[in-house]
Amino acid sequence: MEIIDGKALAKRIRENLKNDVDELRSQGRNPKLAVILVGNDSASQIYVRNKSKACNEVGIEFEEILLEENTTMEELLGIIDNLNERKDITGILLQSPIPKHLDINEAFRRIAPEKDVDGFNPVNVGKLCLNQDTFVSCTPYGIMKMLEAYNIDPRGKHAVIIGRSNIVGKPMALSLLNKDATVTICHSKTQNLKEITKQADILVAAIGKKHFVTADMVKDGAVVIDVGINRTEEGLFGDVDFENVKEKASFITPVPGGVGPMTIAMLLNNVVKAMSL
Ligand code: NAD
Repeated sequence: MEIIDGKALAKRIRENLKNDVDELRSQGRNPKLAVILVGNDSASQIYVRNKSKACNEVGIEFEEILLEENTTMEELLGIIDNLNERKDITGILLQSPIPKHLDINEAFRRIAPEKDVDGFNPVNVGKLCLNQDTFVSCTPYGIMKMLEAYNIDPRGKHAVIIGRSNIVGKPMALSLLNKDATVTICHSKTQNLKEITKQADILVAAIGKKHFVTADMVKDGAVVIDVGINRTEEGLFGDVDFENVKEKASFITPVPGGVGPMTIAMLLNNVVKAMSL
């Protein structure tokens, strides 16, 4: 069994990106990420702070736009329009969740596809679906990079994804399909889940329930990718019962130190990529 070290891989990617950014800056081209945060969600505030720090480390400029909880849709769209037009802004990210009275899908639609570094605009999702070059949602993109780094080729493998969210599950399924895996998506209404997960050569858990995936759900030799982030009083846990599942897996990602650091690295990667569009 090998533990996939997302933290170390993300560090290497950030170092390479820093060189790319230095090169761009020497040509007078400064990549800049704008992050919109609406309301006072404490987890979102931590995520935005981490993104700001990561940008800083590789030399990407960062602008945070803090909006009140009671911001109207019209105001939010106006701010996105302004960022779309600004020449100094390379990438735009709307931190989710946003307050319930706002329509997040309409907001994602409004972000210019060429600045949509999170890959949530339907144009970019459509391109992923058609296997065209695009911005891919950072978490699935980071997972694909991890598989590549560890020489795990999805071709012909049965990949099972638990979770069908627009942010993780669906783009994960499309990314694996684009690499010739046979893909099954499971979700909260799936029957006989264990029968399906036991067939997985590559098992991706993106559920949001601590230690949901137990050893009896995993085939011997499977590659197990844990996307879950579950904060409890005892600390941070993934969706996979790591200690027991690792005895069966060929490769497994830990939490923390697995998928999480890769997600941020791929965001930085997408901002640098946006410079060339
Ligand atoms: P979500 O709540 O939008 O989706 C959860 C999915 O799990 C749903 O599709 C649902 O159908 C499925 N599900 C729920 N209960 C189930 C059950 N009993 N059986 C089978 N499927 C079930 O969540 P999300 O945004 O996709 O995130 C999933 C997890 O990944 C969360 O813990 C989140 O914090 C984490 N996450 C981590 C990163 C990262 O960078 N590591 C990024 C995004 C999300």
